[in-house]
Amino acid sequence: MSMKIIDSHCHFDDARFDPDRDAAYHRAQAAGVVALIVPAVTRESWSKLQRICRSYAGLHPAYGLHPMFMQQHRASDIDALDLQLSRAEAVAVGECGLDFYIEQPDRAGQTALFTAQLALAEKYNLPVIIHARKAVEEVLNLLRRFPRLRGVLHSYSGSEQQAHRLIERGFLMSFGGPLTYPNAKRLHKLVSRLPLESIMLESDAPDQPDADHRGGRNEPALLGSVLQLLAEIRSESSEEIARQTTANAVNLFAIEI
Ligand SMILES: [Zn+2]
Repeated sequence: MSMKIIDSHCHFDDARFDPDRDAAYHRAQAAGVVALIVPAVTRESWSKLQRICRSYAGLHPAYGLHPMFMQQHRASDIDALDLQLSRAEAVAVGECGLDFYIEQPDRAGQTALFTAQLALAEKYNLPVIIHARKAVEEVLNLLRRFPRLRGVLHSYSGSEQQAHRLIERGFLMSFGGPLTYPNAKRLHKLVSRLPLESIMLESDAPDQPDADHRGGRNEPALLGSVLQLLAEIRSESSEEIARQTTANAVNLFAIEI
């Protein structure tokens, strides 16, 4: 496999990979996936995530507090994150953000937690990996306070107009399995019009499998189907998309492949 692709968002530390993590890693390698960015979800996950990233070449950790796990976060977790970022290698702060799609979201709590993580990303000069559902406008507003920050909105689901405002801010967007759903017309139109320099590939594994694996476990080895679909929609070669999206990830996360 000559094409090198990067999975810019993979929860490879998830327990669903515990039974066959080695095999999943080798399948990813065989599929040309040369690097994985592994974002965290809760403070409890950090040590296992760190250990796994140290065990496999090409895995890069990010540390953060995910907005869908508000009940598990404690006020002291921000100080703990500060400490973690000060002494552990990390390529980004995340996964953090706002999720106003879930039922009865704690908007104030999420906003405070997210803002604190944006401040830490600025402090450590790291990019942010942002989760935003029904909240892209709120994210754009909060980013105004951090003009030097760069990062990615993962599994992007905002509008084209918002995408262009993000690009102006130096942000990227990553896309995964949902792109392969036949009814994802709005998403197809969006990715056909974005500059390739602003796009990265992601699996979000073990979640968000492609259309052929819906309901099953996703894994980074399946990232090729996302690449294939992008090539079709954009009428560009897979090679060119692989080359540029890989360059985008290398640049944003300052990694070597
Ligand atoms: Zn995620």
